[in-house]
Amino acid sequence: MNIAIVGSGVIGLSVACRLASAGHHLTIISGQPSSETTSAVSAAYWGPYFVGHYHRSWAIETWQELYQIASVPELARQSGTSIVEFREWLGEEDQSKFEEHLHGSVKQVHDPAEVSLKEAEPYWWRELPGIDFQRSPLVPSQVIHFPDIGDRVFISQLQFRSVVARMPDYLRFLQTKAESFRPIAFEHRWIDGFSDLLGRHDFVINCTGWGAKRLVQEDPSTAKMRLLAGLVVRVEAPDQRFAFSLGHGVFAKEPLYIVPRQGSRIDSICGGTAIEIHGDVDPRNPFPLDIDERCEKIYHRCAAASDSIRDGKRCENLAGLRPMRDAVRIESDPINARLIHCYGHGGSGLTLSWGSANRVVELIS
Ligand SMILES: Cc1cc2nc3c(=O)[nH]c(=O)nc-3n(C[C@H](O)[C@H](O)[C@H](O)COP(=O)(O)OP(=O)(O)OC[C@H]3O[C@@H](n4cnc5c(N)ncnc54)[C@H](O)[C@@H]3O)c2cc1C
Repeated sequence: MNIAIVGSGVIGLSVACRLASAGHHLTIISGQPSSETTSAVSAAYWGPYFVGHYHRSWAIETWQELYQIASVPELARQSGTSIVEFREWLGEEDQSKFEEHLHGSVKQVHDPAEVSLKEAEPYWWRELPGIDFQRSPLVPSQVIHFPDIGDRVFISQLQFRSVVARMPDYLRFLQTKAESFRPIAFEHRWIDGFSDLLGRHDFVINCTGWGAKRLVQEDPSTAKMRLLAGLVVRVEAPDQRFAFSLGHGVFAKEPLYIVPRQGSRIDSICGGTAIEIHGDVDPRNPFPLDIDERCEKIYHRCAAASDSIRDGKRCENLAGLRPMRDAVRIESDPINARLIHCYGHGGSGLTLSWGSANRVVELIS
């Protein structure tokens, strides 16, 4: 079939790989080159985070695929993926809340296969093969002096492994992989609606991420897409070997993370923020935020937490918009079933990418 995919971020390109391998003729239409999408800015590691309702199988299928890619040295090199040890520290005051998260609230979820950020335990994935999740006390306890909030004391550590993708490399890898099955036509342009494309293709797949807020007229009483700005600082810090994050207590709203990446460059992404951007955002003119000022704060926090970051070379500030819905939307359009929506992945686009692509293939079948 002739299929148009709108969007060339991690979702559009993962869908392209699956559809190209199934033998379809593809056209990818995108306002931005892949290298300028939100996906390219992403940290990006596997781990459900800042995301509405989704199906666990989407995350699990993606974990399996990414783990497989990152485990084969040649594929890991080509794709900029690596298996990285993550360390997350908890303060004394975070313990009880954390226990609740870890053990308590999963029962509130009606369908155990489905997860919503507010209801379910955030570490449901800790038993997956390869993750190797552990929790241990920090002896002695550790103190970090932050420039903005002063001394914080940490008493325990979560440790696990995840796959990190250096996204500029990984997006190129996805495109090359998709094109290895058959040639793909690319059109670099913005669209204002789908009707023209539906007239010329058997199916149209909407993978426009945050662009869907403008493009799709959803019923505001049942669906609401929020745009959460993520700002990060890229630092070349070859000595940063493990990923580090703080996301509980005072760090819940303004998390701190350092994610080291391998690939065409060895660098780390320092984050982060989740600032809601209100109003009608035009994809062509994104950021109504003072990026530099906020990135300054992010950098100094991360430099306080890691000597390797402090001693590294600060390279650039980056910004992207996480498309956050109450639920990730993967379904046929209720009016025209030849239009398939696949957007709203929030802070988990990489994490849900292969599972989402698999669902799109099922819908087409
Ligand atoms: C700072 C930050 C850190 C993150 N870290 C992680 C992480 O560690 N792990 C993780 O899983 N996720 C992470 N995310 C989230 C992840 O980046 C997103 O979920 C993901 O990028 C969404 O991918 P997408 O392909 O749907 O959208 P995008 O990458 O935004 O791509 C959308 C595409 O649609 C095109 N488009 C939009 N509107 C139109 C239009 N009208 N006409 C034509 N083309 C259009 C765009 O040009 C683009 O090609 C992070 C995000 C940010 C901002």
